[in-house]
Amino acid sequence: MLSFVYQSLPSRVVFGAGCLEKLPEEIQRLGLAKALVLSTPEQRQSGLDLVERLGSRAAGLFDQAAMHVPIETARAAREAATSLGADCCVAVGGGSTTGLAKAIALVFDLPILAVPTTYAGSEMTPIWGLTEKGRKTTGRDPRVLPKTVFYDPSLTVTMSPMLSATSGMNSIAHCVEALYAEHANPIISMMAEDGIRTLGESLPVVVKEPGNLEARSKALYGAWLGGISLGAVGMALHHKLCHTLGGTYNLPHAETHTVVLPHATAYNAPAAPLAMARVARALASGSAAEGLYNLAASLGAPLSLAAIGMKADALDQAAEIAVENPYYNPRPVTKDGIRALLQNAFEGRKP
Ligand code: NAD
Repeated sequence: MLSFVYQSLPSRVVFGAGCLEKLPEEIQRLGLAKALVLSTPEQRQSGLDLVERLGSRAAGLFDQAAMHVPIETARAAREAATSLGADCCVAVGGGSTTGLAKAIALVFDLPILAVPTTYAGSEMTPIWGLTEKGRKTTGRDPRVLPKTVFYDPSLTVTMSPMLSATSGMNSIAHCVEALYAEHANPIISMMAEDGIRTLGESLPVVVKEPGNLEARSKALYGAWLGGISLGAVGMALHHKLCHTLGGTYNLPHAETHTVVLPHATAYNAPAAPLAMARVARALASGSAAEGLYNLAASLGAPLSLAAIGMKADALDQAAEIAVENPYYNPRPVTKDGIRALLQNAFEGRKP
Protein backbone atom coordinates (compact mmCIF):
# COMPACT_ATOMS: atom_id res chain seq x y z
CA MET A 1 0.00 0.00 0.00
CA LEU A 2 1.34 3.46 -0.87
CA SER A 3 2.48 5.71 1.97
CA PHE A 4 4.87 8.62 1.48
CA VAL A 5 5.68 12.29 1.98
CA TYR A 6 6.40 14.39 -1.10
CA GLN A 7 7.72 17.91 -0.86
CA SER A 8 8.33 19.90 -4.04
CA LEU A 9 11.01 22.59 -3.96
CA PRO A 10 10.14 26.09 -5.19
CA SER A 11 12.25 26.86 -8.24
CA ARG A 12 11.53 27.99 -11.77
CA VAL A 13 13.16 26.23 -14.71
CA VAL A 14 13.70 27.73 -18.14
CA PHE A 15 14.92 25.08 -20.58
CA GLY A 16 16.08 25.16 -24.18
CA ALA A 17 18.90 26.10 -26.55
CA GLY A 18 19.25 29.89 -26.51
CA CYS A 19 17.05 30.32 -23.41
CA LEU A 20 19.77 32.43 -21.78
CA GLU A 21 18.44 35.32 -23.85
CA LYS A 22 15.68 35.59 -21.26
CA LEU A 23 18.09 36.10 -18.34
CA PRO A 24 17.89 39.93 -18.17
CA GLU A 25 14.10 39.79 -18.28
CA GLU A 26 14.10 37.13 -15.54
CA ILE A 27 16.20 39.31 -13.24
CA GLN A 28 13.66 42.08 -13.73
CA ARG A 29 10.76 39.67 -13.18
CA LEU A 30 12.24 38.75 -9.81
CA GLY A 31 12.42 42.46 -8.88
CA LEU A 32 16.22 42.40 -8.86
CA ALA A 33 18.60 44.94 -10.34
CA LYS A 34 22.33 44.12 -9.95
CA ALA A 35 23.75 40.63 -10.47
CA LEU A 36 27.20 39.49 -9.41
CA VAL A 37 28.21 36.96 -12.07
CA LEU A 38 30.24 34.00 -10.80
CA SER A 39 32.50 31.62 -12.75
CA THR A 40 35.66 29.55 -12.40
CA PRO A 41 38.90 30.99 -13.85
CA GLU A 42 38.53 28.43 -16.69
CA GLN A 43 35.06 29.74 -17.56
CA ARG A 44 35.94 33.44 -17.21
CA GLN A 45 34.92 34.07 -20.81
CA SER A 46 31.43 32.66 -20.17
CA GLY A 47 31.23 34.98 -17.16
CA LEU A 48 32.30 37.98 -19.22
CA ASP A 49 29.73 37.10 -21.90
CA LEU A 50 27.02 37.15 -19.26
CA VAL A 51 28.19 40.47 -17.84
CA GLU A 52 27.96 41.91 -21.32
CA ARG A 53 24.54 40.37 -21.90
CA LEU A 54 23.25 41.82 -18.60
CA GLY A 55 24.56 45.33 -19.29
CA SER A 56 23.40 47.69 -16.55
CA ARG A 57 21.94 44.74 -14.61
CA ALA A 58 25.45 43.35 -13.98
CA ALA A 59 27.32 44.37 -10.81
CA GLY A 60 30.54 42.66 -12.00
CA LEU A 61 32.29 39.31 -12.33
CA PHE A 62 33.94 37.17 -9.66
CA ASP A 63 35.84 34.43 -11.48
CA GLN A 64 37.55 32.47 -8.72
CA ALA A 65 35.07 29.63 -8.06
CA ALA A 66 36.89 26.40 -7.13
CA MET A 67 36.00 22.78 -6.35
CA HIS A 68 34.43 22.18 -2.90
CA VAL A 69 34.10 25.94 -2.13
CA PRO A 70 37.19 26.82 -0.05
CA ILE A 71 36.14 29.16 2.78
CA GLU A 72 38.70 31.78 1.65
CA THR A 73 37.07 31.92 -1.80
CA ALA A 74 33.62 32.17 -0.23
CA ARG A 75 34.78 35.12 1.91
CA ALA A 76 36.34 36.89 -1.09
CA ALA A 77 33.16 36.41 -3.12
CA ARG A 78 30.99 37.73 -0.27
CA GLU A 79 33.21 40.81 -0.07
CA ALA A 80 32.89 41.32 -3.83
CA ALA A 81 29.09 41.04 -3.59
CA THR A 82 29.03 43.70 -0.87
CA SER A 83 31.51 46.12 -2.43
CA LEU A 84 29.83 45.91 -5.85
CA GLY A 85 26.35 46.39 -4.38
CA ALA A 86 24.95 43.14 -5.83
CA ASP A 87 21.38 42.14 -4.97
CA CYS A 88 21.59 38.68 -6.60
CA CYS A 89 24.09 36.23 -8.07
CA VAL A 90 24.19 34.55 -11.45
CA ALA A 91 26.30 31.38 -11.34
CA VAL A 92 27.49 30.15 -14.74
CA GLY A 93 29.29 26.81 -14.53
CA GLY A 94 29.25 23.45 -12.79
CA GLY A 95 28.67 22.46 -9.19
CA SER A 96 31.68 24.42 -7.98
CA THR A 97 30.32 27.74 -9.24
CA THR A 98 26.76 27.07 -8.08
CA GLY A 99 28.32 26.11 -4.74
CA LEU A 100 30.02 29.51 -4.48
CA ALA A 101 26.71 31.30 -5.10
CA LYS A 102 25.21 29.18 -2.32
CA ALA A 103 28.02 30.21 0.05
CA ILE A 104 27.09 33.86 -0.56
CA ALA A 105 23.34 33.18 -0.21
CA LEU A 106 23.93 31.38 3.06
CA VAL A 107 25.21 34.58 4.69
CA PHE A 108 23.57 37.42 2.74
CA ASP A 109 20.38 35.74 1.54
CA LEU A 110 21.10 36.93 -2.03
CA PRO A 111 18.81 35.17 -4.55
CA ILE A 112 20.61 32.89 -7.02
CA LEU A 113 19.96 32.46 -10.72
CA ALA A 114 21.84 29.38 -11.89
CA VAL A 115 23.13 28.64 -15.38
CA PRO A 116 24.45 25.08 -15.11
CA THR A 117 27.03 23.96 -17.67
CA THR A 118 27.66 20.43 -16.32
CA TYR A 119 25.33 17.62 -15.23
CA ALA A 120 26.17 17.82 -11.48
CA GLY A 121 22.70 18.97 -10.42
CA SER A 122 23.57 21.34 -7.56
CA GLU A 123 21.28 23.99 -9.06
CA MET A 124 18.20 21.97 -8.04
CA THR A 125 19.18 21.37 -4.42
CA PRO A 126 19.11 23.31 -1.13
CA ILE A 127 22.43 21.60 -0.23
CA TRP A 128 25.49 23.79 0.41
CA GLY A 129 29.11 22.81 1.05
CA LEU A 130 32.11 24.70 2.41
CA THR A 131 35.69 23.52 2.90
CA GLU A 132 37.81 24.84 5.76
CA LYS A 133 41.25 23.47 6.66
CA GLY A 134 40.73 20.48 4.37
CA ARG A 135 37.37 19.53 5.95
CA LYS A 136 34.18 19.86 3.94
CA THR A 137 30.98 20.68 5.82
CA THR A 138 27.61 20.34 4.10
CA GLY A 139 24.11 21.31 5.11
CA ARG A 140 20.62 22.06 3.84
CA ASP A 141 19.11 25.53 3.81
CA PRO A 142 16.16 26.66 1.67
CA ARG A 143 17.85 30.07 1.14
CA VAL A 144 20.53 28.53 -1.09
CA LEU A 145 18.09 26.94 -3.56
CA PRO A 146 18.37 28.91 -6.83
CA LYS A 147 15.23 30.92 -7.66
CA THR A 148 15.51 30.34 -11.40
CA VAL A 149 17.58 27.86 -13.38
CA PHE A 150 18.45 28.37 -17.04
CA TYR A 151 19.21 25.06 -18.73
CA ASP A 152 20.73 26.08 -22.04
CA PRO A 153 22.24 23.00 -23.75
CA SER A 154 24.29 25.17 -26.10
CA LEU A 155 26.49 26.04 -23.08
CA THR A 156 27.28 22.37 -22.50
CA VAL A 157 28.81 21.57 -25.91
CA THR A 158 32.22 22.76 -24.66
CA MET A 159 32.35 20.01 -21.99
CA SER A 160 35.05 17.53 -22.94
CA PRO A 161 33.95 13.94 -23.62
CA MET A 162 35.52 12.92 -20.28
CA LEU A 163 33.77 15.63 -18.24
CA SER A 164 30.52 14.84 -20.06
CA ALA A 165 30.84 11.12 -19.28
CA THR A 166 31.77 11.47 -15.60
CA SER A 167 29.41 14.35 -14.89
CA GLY A 168 26.62 12.36 -16.56
CA MET A 169 27.42 9.33 -14.37
CA ASN A 170 27.37 11.69 -11.35
CA SER A 171 23.81 12.63 -12.28
CA ILE A 172 22.83 8.99 -12.79
CA ALA A 173 24.15 8.34 -9.26
CA HIS A 174 21.63 10.88 -7.89
CA CYS A 175 18.85 9.01 -9.69
CA VAL A 176 19.97 5.54 -8.56
CA GLU A 177 20.15 6.51 -4.87
CA ALA A 178 16.82 8.37 -5.06
CA LEU A 179 15.15 5.07 -6.01
CA TYR A 180 16.07 3.44 -2.68
CA ALA A 181 16.33 6.57 -0.51
CA GLU A 182 14.80 6.71 2.95
CA HIS A 183 12.26 9.27 1.69
CA ALA A 184 11.79 7.74 -1.76
CA ASN A 185 8.36 8.46 -3.22
CA PRO A 186 6.59 7.56 -6.47
CA ILE A 187 6.92 11.01 -8.08
CA ILE A 188 10.66 11.28 -7.55
CA SER A 189 11.15 7.62 -8.50
CA MET A 190 9.39 8.29 -11.81
CA MET A 191 11.74 11.21 -12.49
CA ALA A 192 14.80 9.27 -11.33
CA GLU A 193 14.09 6.30 -13.57
CA ASP A 194 13.52 8.58 -16.54
CA GLY A 195 16.72 10.46 -15.68
CA ILE A 196 18.72 7.22 -15.87
CA ARG A 197 17.06 6.25 -19.15
CA THR A 198 17.55 9.68 -20.72
CA LEU A 199 21.21 9.94 -19.68
CA GLY A 200 21.90 6.31 -20.57
CA GLU A 201 20.63 6.95 -24.09
CA SER A 202 22.18 10.36 -24.67
CA LEU A 203 25.64 10.13 -23.06
CA PRO A 204 27.09 7.68 -25.62
CA VAL A 205 26.09 10.13 -28.38
CA VAL A 206 27.38 13.17 -26.46
CA VAL A 207 30.77 11.53 -25.90
CA LYS A 208 31.13 10.67 -29.61
CA GLU A 209 29.71 13.95 -30.89
CA PRO A 210 30.20 16.66 -28.23
CA GLY A 211 28.61 19.26 -30.52
CA ASN A 212 25.38 17.32 -31.11
CA LEU A 213 22.83 19.76 -29.66
CA GLU A 214 19.97 17.26 -29.79
CA ALA A 215 21.89 14.77 -27.62
CA ARG A 216 23.18 17.58 -25.39
CA SER A 217 19.63 18.73 -24.85
CA LYS A 218 18.50 15.24 -23.90
CA ALA A 219 21.46 14.78 -21.52
CA LEU A 220 20.81 18.12 -19.82
CA TYR A 221 17.16 17.19 -19.39
CA GLY A 222 18.28 13.95 -17.72
CA ALA A 223 20.65 15.95 -15.52
CA TRP A 224 17.77 18.17 -14.45
CA LEU A 225 15.88 15.03 -13.36
CA GLY A 226 19.01 13.91 -11.50
CA GLY A 227 19.25 17.27 -9.74
CA ILE A 228 15.59 17.12 -8.66
CA SER A 229 16.15 13.59 -7.34
CA LEU A 230 19.20 14.69 -5.34
CA GLY A 231 17.43 17.72 -3.89
CA ALA A 232 14.17 15.97 -3.01
CA VAL A 233 15.18 12.81 -1.14
CA GLY A 234 18.14 11.90 1.08
CA MET A 235 21.08 10.05 -0.37
CA ALA A 236 22.78 6.93 1.03
CA LEU A 237 25.91 4.77 0.85
CA HIS A 238 27.11 5.81 -2.59
CA HIS A 239 27.06 9.57 -1.92
CA LYS A 240 28.47 9.19 1.61
CA LEU A 241 31.31 7.04 0.33
CA CYS A 242 32.14 9.45 -2.50
CA HIS A 243 32.07 12.31 0.01
CA THR A 244 34.58 10.45 2.21
CA LEU A 245 36.85 9.55 -0.71
CA GLY A 246 36.73 13.03 -2.26
CA GLY A 247 37.17 14.87 1.03
CA THR A 248 39.87 12.70 2.62
CA TYR A 249 41.93 11.69 -0.42
CA ASN A 250 41.19 14.64 -2.66
CA LEU A 251 39.86 12.45 -5.46
CA PRO A 252 38.08 14.24 -8.34
CA HIS A 253 34.30 14.55 -7.71
CA ALA A 254 32.62 13.29 -10.89
CA GLU A 255 35.24 10.59 -11.58
CA THR A 256 34.85 9.20 -8.04
CA HIS A 257 31.08 8.96 -8.51
CA THR A 258 31.62 7.19 -11.84
CA VAL A 259 33.94 4.54 -10.38
CA VAL A 260 32.04 3.87 -7.13
CA LEU A 261 28.48 3.78 -8.52
CA PRO A 262 28.41 0.21 -9.93
CA HIS A 263 29.98 -1.14 -6.71
CA ALA A 264 27.71 0.75 -4.30
CA THR A 265 24.79 -0.42 -6.43
CA ALA A 266 25.96 -4.06 -6.27
CA TYR A 267 26.32 -3.70 -2.49
CA ASN A 268 22.75 -2.46 -2.09
CA ALA A 269 21.21 -4.76 -4.70
CA PRO A 270 20.03 -7.54 -2.32
CA ALA A 271 18.27 -4.99 -0.09
CA ALA A 272 16.58 -2.89 -2.79
CA PRO A 273 15.25 -5.24 -5.49
CA LEU A 274 12.52 -2.90 -6.80
CA ALA A 275 14.97 0.00 -7.21
CA MET A 276 17.43 -2.33 -8.96
CA ALA A 277 14.73 -3.53 -11.35
CA ARG A 278 14.01 0.08 -12.32
CA VAL A 279 17.69 0.90 -12.90
CA ALA A 280 18.13 -2.25 -14.99
CA ARG A 281 14.97 -1.46 -16.98
CA ALA A 282 16.13 2.12 -17.62
CA LEU A 283 19.47 0.89 -18.92
CA ALA A 284 18.00 -2.10 -20.79
CA SER A 285 20.43 -4.28 -18.88
CA GLY A 286 20.21 -7.64 -17.11
CA SER A 287 21.35 -6.15 -13.80
CA ALA A 288 21.57 -2.63 -12.41
CA ALA A 289 25.23 -2.76 -11.33
CA GLU A 290 26.39 -4.41 -14.54
CA GLY A 291 24.41 -1.93 -16.64
CA LEU A 292 26.06 1.01 -14.85
CA TYR A 293 29.53 -0.50 -15.20
CA ASN A 294 29.00 -1.23 -18.90
CA LEU A 295 27.70 2.29 -19.52
CA ALA A 296 30.76 3.87 -17.85
CA ALA A 297 33.04 1.54 -19.81
CA SER A 298 31.32 2.38 -23.10
CA LEU A 299 31.81 6.09 -22.38
CA GLY A 300 35.56 5.60 -21.89
CA ALA A 301 35.25 6.79 -18.27
CA PRO A 302 37.68 5.65 -15.55
CA LEU A 303 36.61 2.36 -13.98
CA SER A 304 38.95 1.99 -11.00
CA LEU A 305 39.86 4.07 -7.96
CA ALA A 306 43.50 3.22 -8.76
CA ALA A 307 43.14 5.06 -12.08
CA ILE A 308 41.97 8.27 -10.39
CA GLY A 309 44.69 8.52 -7.76
CA MET A 310 43.57 6.36 -4.80
CA LYS A 311 46.40 4.54 -3.01
CA ALA A 312 45.96 0.85 -2.11
CA ASP A 313 47.32 1.41 1.41
CA ALA A 314 44.55 3.95 2.16
CA LEU A 315 41.67 1.49 1.61
CA ASP A 316 41.59 0.19 5.23
CA GLN A 317 41.43 3.72 6.61
CA ALA A 318 38.77 4.72 4.04
CA ALA A 319 36.57 1.80 5.14
CA GLU A 320 36.98 2.86 8.78
CA ILE A 321 36.05 6.48 8.08
CA ALA A 322 33.09 5.41 5.95
CA VAL A 323 31.43 3.57 8.86
CA GLU A 324 32.21 6.19 11.55
CA ASN A 325 28.87 8.03 11.39
CA PRO A 326 25.74 5.94 10.90
CA TYR A 327 23.21 6.97 8.22
CA TYR A 328 20.27 5.46 6.38
CA ASN A 329 21.09 2.80 3.80
CA PRO A 330 18.88 -0.03 2.54
CA ARG A 331 21.56 -2.60 3.45
CA PRO A 332 23.42 -2.28 6.78
CA VAL A 333 26.80 -0.61 6.27
CA THR A 334 29.53 -2.82 7.78
CA LYS A 335 33.26 -2.22 7.80
CA ASP A 336 34.01 -5.57 6.16
CA GLY A 337 31.34 -5.01 3.52
CA ILE A 338 32.67 -1.54 2.68
CA ARG A 339 36.27 -2.78 2.64
CA ALA A 340 35.31 -5.42 0.07
CA LEU A 341 33.35 -2.85 -1.97
CA LEU A 342 36.37 -0.52 -1.95
CA GLN A 343 38.69 -3.33 -3.08
CA ASN A 344 36.42 -4.05 -6.04
CA ALA A 345 36.23 -0.35 -6.89
CA PHE A 346 39.98 0.05 -6.49
CA GLU A 347 40.62 -2.72 -8.98
CA GLY A 348 37.75 -1.71 -11.25
CA ARG A 349 36.26 -5.23 -11.23
CA LYS A 350 33.08 -5.76 -13.17
CA PRO A 351 30.30 -6.29 -10.57
P1 NAD B 1 33.06 21.79 -11.56
O1 NAD B 1 31.99 22.78 -11.37
O2 NAD B 1 34.19 21.80 -10.57
O3 NAD B 1 33.65 21.93 -13.03
C1 NAD B 1 34.81 21.20 -13.41
C2 NAD B 1 35.62 22.02 -14.42
O4 NAD B 1 34.92 22.02 -15.64
C3 NAD B 1 35.78 23.49 -14.01
O5 NAD B 1 37.05 23.92 -14.41
C4 NAD B 1 34.70 24.18 -14.81
O6 NAD B 1 34.99 25.52 -15.08
C5 NAD B 1 34.73 23.35 -16.08
N1 NAD B 1 33.46 23.38 -16.84
C6 NAD B 1 32.21 23.36 -16.36
N2 NAD B 1 31.32 23.39 -17.37
C7 NAD B 1 32.04 23.42 -18.50
C8 NAD B 1 31.69 23.46 -19.88
N3 NAD B 1 30.41 23.44 -20.29
N4 NAD B 1 32.68 23.50 -20.79
C9 NAD B 1 33.97 23.48 -20.40
N5 NAD B 1 34.37 23.44 -19.12
C10 NAD B 1 33.41 23.41 -18.19
O7 NAD B 1 32.50 20.28 -11.60
P2 NAD B 1 31.09 19.67 -11.24
O8 NAD B 1 31.30 18.21 -11.30
O9 NAD B 1 30.00 20.28 -12.01
O10 NAD B 1 30.86 20.09 -9.73
C11 NAD B 1 31.57 19.49 -8.67
C12 NAD B 1 31.35 20.23 -7.37
O11 NAD B 1 29.96 20.46 -7.16
C13 NAD B 1 31.83 19.45 -6.17
O12 NAD B 1 32.41 20.34 -5.24
C14 NAD B 1 30.57 18.83 -5.62
O13 NAD B 1 30.67 18.53 -4.24
C15 NAD B 1 29.57 19.93 -5.90
N6 NAD B 1 28.17 19.45 -6.03
C16 NAD B 1 27.27 19.92 -5.14
C17 NAD B 1 25.95 19.53 -5.23
C18 NAD B 1 24.95 20.09 -4.27
O14 NAD B 1 23.78 19.77 -4.34
N7 NAD B 1 25.35 20.96 -3.37
C19 NAD B 1 25.55 18.63 -6.23
C20 NAD B 1 26.48 18.16 -7.14
C21 NAD B 1 27.81 18.58 -7.03
